[in-house]
Amino acid sequence: MALEHLLEVGEGIPAPEKVRRAANLQDIRAEHARSLADPHKFWGEVAKGFRWSQPWSRVLEWRVPDHQWFIGAKTNITENALDRHADGPRRNHLAFICMDEDGTERSITYGELRDLVSRLASGLRSLGVGVGDRVIIYMPLTLEGIASMLAVARLGAIHSVVYAGLGVGALKDRILDAGAKVIIAGDIGFRRGKPVELQGIVDEALPGLDVVKHVVWFQRRKGGGRPLKKNEVDFRALVERSKPDVAPVQVDSEHPLFILYTSGSTGKPKGVVHVHGGFMVGTAYHLRTFYDLKDDDIFWCTSDIGWVVGHSYIVYAPLVEGITTVVREGAIDFPDPGIAWKVVEKHKVNVIFTAPTALRMFMKFGSELPAKADLSSLRLIAVAGEPLNPEACRWAFEHLVDNGKRGFIADNWWQTELGGPALGTPLCIPARPGAVGLALPGVDAVVVDTDGKEVPKGQGGVLALRRPFPHMMRTVWGDHERWRQYWDEIPGQVYAAGDVASWDKDGYFTVLGRSDDVLNVAGHRIGTADVESALVSHPAIAEAAVIGIPDPVKGEGIKAFCILRAGRKATPELEAELVKHVRHELGPIATPSSIVVVDKLPKTRSGKIVRRLLRAQELGKDAGDLSTLEE
Ligand code: AMP
Repeated sequence: MALEHLLEVGEGIPAPEKVRRAANLQDIRAEHARSLADPHKFWGEVAKGFRWSQPWSRVLEWRVPDHQWFIGAKTNITENALDRHADGPRRNHLAFICMDEDGTERSITYGELRDLVSRLASGLRSLGVGVGDRVIIYMPLTLEGIASMLAVARLGAIHSVVYAGLGVGALKDRILDAGAKVIIAGDIGFRRGKPVELQGIVDEALPGLDVVKHVVWFQRRKGGGRPLKKNEVDFRALVERSKPDVAPVQVDSEHPLFILYTSGSTGKPKGVVHVHGGFMVGTAYHLRTFYDLKDDDIFWCTSDIGWVVGHSYIVYAPLVEGITTVVREGAIDFPDPGIAWKVVEKHKVNVIFTAPTALRMFMKFGSELPAKADLSSLRLIAVAGEPLNPEACRWAFEHLVDNGKRGFIADNWWQTELGGPALGTPLCIPARPGAVGLALPGVDAVVVDTDGKEVPKGQGGVLALRRPFPHMMRTVWGDHERWRQYWDEIPGQVYAAGDVASWDKDGYFTVLGRSDDVLNVAGHRIGTADVESALVSHPAIAEAAVIGIPDPVKGEGIKAFCILRAGRKATPELEAELVKHVRHELGPIATPSSIVVVDKLPKTRSGKIVRRLLRAQELGKDAGDLSTLEE
């Protein structure tokens, strides 16, 4: 049946009958109703499937904005992610297939991974890492990066992965905010066949940060690295000299597992805190029900350990569920634009989790490349991170899953704060290109106006959640007030997601984009304030304003307007220098696509920059109600 026909006959594109019948979740509406009617019972039943060294006395305690799950229970997520498989029938099952751009592959079983993690944990313990200590991980997407996260968690310490590619300023801010005692870093990463320098960034960030006691280096530089300093250790040597003698340290269900920094509307990144118990239960639940993973599936998540999708769906949930996951360091279109499909064919990948920006890029390359590969194993492609435009969604149905006859494309919306999918189109309901889907089990989502009143179906407003679920964040590290602000922003004690959305009579949500000054560049969340302060830290710049402009592949690109300091001249060299400066401070993902010099910026009377006006001018649109100019 042709795709146009599928769209004509029904309310959207259904999953093929065979896939839908075999789906782990058969009735989303009934499951959703059950989850909201009695969350204690619902999540209590899910949680029973995991190992706990001490049971909970109550499932949930909730007083806005604070929520706790599995009260009094003790566990360690790595006991569930590693030991219960390594000591059982899945001991020799593959945990990861790790690939490099040059085609090199390494596979590791659950038994071997537990051994590696336990050794590394022992090594870290010898460096003084213990329960509650913070460890920054600045590692490329490698087995060693994943093992670092697990080793830290095994000790009951708290990891904070900084995407290996963020710049000096961003890394420094995160080390300081977390108060990290140890850093585990790679000397280089690899992308597009070339080494990406990481060691230089760490070396530049560290001076003066006395809080850091040790650096563990994962070294891959050809010809050897620079000599190690007194407080530095080689990753491999540390593993080799340590015994696999660290059992998972039992911690409270509410004990922090990780801090992951994300951009807010101020220049200071927010340290989103997730905990062992709830994060494990909720992300694993959605791995089975939403991403539909079966025990013997091969899963490929194309994100990175530096982002929340990597935490939840490269590392923790697939391991907790004993799945085999493919990870690949480098660019998804290198060394050739068809490489992704060769990977699917070679490893018979069943489920892919990627980003809309990747689908748009594949669409740009054309349908011949996927047509050349055998994609018969592929039954589900889930995408999240930014709006999935209907054209890319339709193209993916047509060319990646055989006109919807073999598989399904599932949009899903979530945030670093939420740990796992909250809105989405599971296999049991039709996809409607342009819409994200329904609220998933546990999620009580509404579209409201700024007074907190629900808007009628068919209309738009701001997206809010009326209750927490186990894998929702607990606090902002060191700043609980900032967590409260999510719940205070809109009247009615709801969590304000910061997104603009609409809903329809069938309960499908459409998420349009951020309602605040946060950009989404290729699925990466970048605060305009972060880029502005990076620009202003350059000696030539007095003031800067940054906006997002539409980009056909990346979704949004960054455009900066700058006022120069007296005596400085606008030259192409200066523009190049400013771009370089932002990359140095924040990393390549925050690279402005254009920088223009202006004499003045539109401002409110109170001095706030009106980015909305700049955006409207840029796009040739009416800026709408400009009453804020009178503030
Ligand atoms: P992050 O915390 O970096 O994952 O970014 C979360 C933000 O990405 C959300 O607040 C949305 O603005 C956007 N986002 C994530 N998933 C989707 C989606 N499926 N559709 C539209 N926007 C999305």
